[in-house]
Amino acid sequence: MGKALGIVGGGAAGMMAAITAARQGANVTLIEGNDRLGRKLLSTGNGKCNLGNEKLGIDKYYTGQPKLLEKCLERFGTSDTVAFFKSVGLMVKSKNGYLYPTGEQAAIVQDVLRYEVRELGINVVTDCKITKITREHRREQIHVQGSGKDFWFDCVILACGSQAAPKTGSDGSGYQLARQLGHSLNPVVPALVQLRCREDYFRAVAGVRAEAKLSVYCQGECIAQERGELQLTDYGISGIPVFQLSRIVNYLLLEKAEYHGQCEIEKCSSREVRAKKSALSREAGIERNSLPREVVIEIDFLPEDTLENLERLEAERALLYGRKTVEEFFTGMLHKKLMLLFIKLAGLKSVELVAAVDRKKLQQVYKLCKQWQVHVIGSNSFEYAQVCAGGVPLDEVANDLESKKVPGVYFAGELLDVDGKCGGYNLQWAWCSGYLAGSAAASTLKLRKSDD
Ligand SMILES: Cc1cc2nc3c(=O)[nH]c(=O)nc-3n(C[C@H](O)[C@H](O)[C@H](O)COP(=O)(O)OP(=O)(O)OC[C@H]3O[C@@H](n4cnc5c(N)ncnc54)[C@H](O)[C@@H]3O)c2cc1C
Repeated sequence: MGKALGIVGGGAAGMMAAITAARQGANVTLIEGNDRLGRKLLSTGNGKCNLGNEKLGIDKYYTGQPKLLEKCLERFGTSDTVAFFKSVGLMVKSKNGYLYPTGEQAAIVQDVLRYEVRELGINVVTDCKITKITREHRREQIHVQGSGKDFWFDCVILACGSQAAPKTGSDGSGYQLARQLGHSLNPVVPALVQLRCREDYFRAVAGVRAEAKLSVYCQGECIAQERGELQLTDYGISGIPVFQLSRIVNYLLLEKAEYHGQCEIEKCSSREVRAKKSALSREAGIERNSLPREVVIEIDFLPEDTLENLERLEAERALLYGRKTVEEFFTGMLHKKLMLLFIKLAGLKSVELVAAVDRKKLQQVYKLCKQWQVHVIGSNSFEYAQVCAGGVPLDEVANDLESKKVPGVYFAGELLDVDGKCGGYNLQWAWCSGYLAGSAAASTLKLRKSDD
């Protein structure tokens, strides 16, 4: 009987692994819980699929093992992604470095992959959710079970994705499979996701979009900053800069929840949480064992101006425009809804005359434009997240992504503890890790075959 490779999860990484291994002659079975392959791809890039980026670099990712990740990306980078898609007939174009299919439709990315899977004669099993995986020492095989079916493989690639957008199929069951094999998990939190804030006035500014610089503060320390288009919602903040910051905010909130014994985000062992906490604390320069406090985001709508300049401007204008109402005085700075909110927060009334109000309150409005502080109480759930931070630690896999705990098992995609920023980096990781795992598994099968 020929040696067989089983791949659990028919998403971006799983399909790439299957195609790579089959092209190298492996006998591949691709098992997918959904009724068809690659469902998540359809939602990517707002339906256009941002499948990679010309500005690929290790700085676009978060992982505990940057050296290993860097090696992987060197072996399969952006030009390899483009060449691969060319090989399956997909034309790719760049928009300021962001790569999209020329047809600007995610469905065609899914299609070219599915057609190639079929072309290569890969055995596809759909509607099959794998729930159990064991190493069968007697048979020297890996036993995979689920949805009433049993499979025995010589090698297995776990490419089940994360827990983000579970309606697309990646419901976190891959983490359980990894655990069954003795792997640990770095705590899993939603990332590239909207943040919810404590303030009750967000409804008044919902719908506002504005360029801004955002700084995350915890215990008075600035931990991370991002710039870009901020979107205000009725519960908090959204937009690319918020997405980029959401992973660090969620880890800080996880630390706080753990401290207060309310750790519900992911059932991870306290050893893992402690390890992550100290790593985060080191990264963020937070004193260890100190009480995690609130997570505050400071929003600067005028990052090109200094506060001193704005205070000078206030002084000049207050002299000139004393006969204007407060609302008239501040019209023209920022979005109207924002100015009305800041006027209220500063304790002013829109209809008051500038000459009659406390100057400190006028200055306070300018200050709010630069240093509006909002308190983050959480993020939207996994349902709304584009990816997850955390997962199977990279130090539990070898350079070719083979498990260090169970030989013959490989990992690919978001199941591993690698998450990227917005911009095509997460799919790049899926293609890269799928290629490396598929290629390594095919080589292992060839070696075993020649040993027989
Ligand atoms: C709304 C949205 C937009 C996004 N946009 C972009 C973008 O434009 N660019 C970008 O780079 N990234 C984007 N991402 C992220 C990107 O889609 C993921 O990082 C990528 O799909 C991960 O690939 P994967 O193969 O590891 O996991 P997935 O694509 O999630 O695939 C995992 C597959 O495994 C199957 N599966 C899971 N568990 C089991 C099991 N136990 N048994 C059998 N099958 C199982 C699932 O059904 C799924 O098909 C976006 C994500 C979302 C949600």
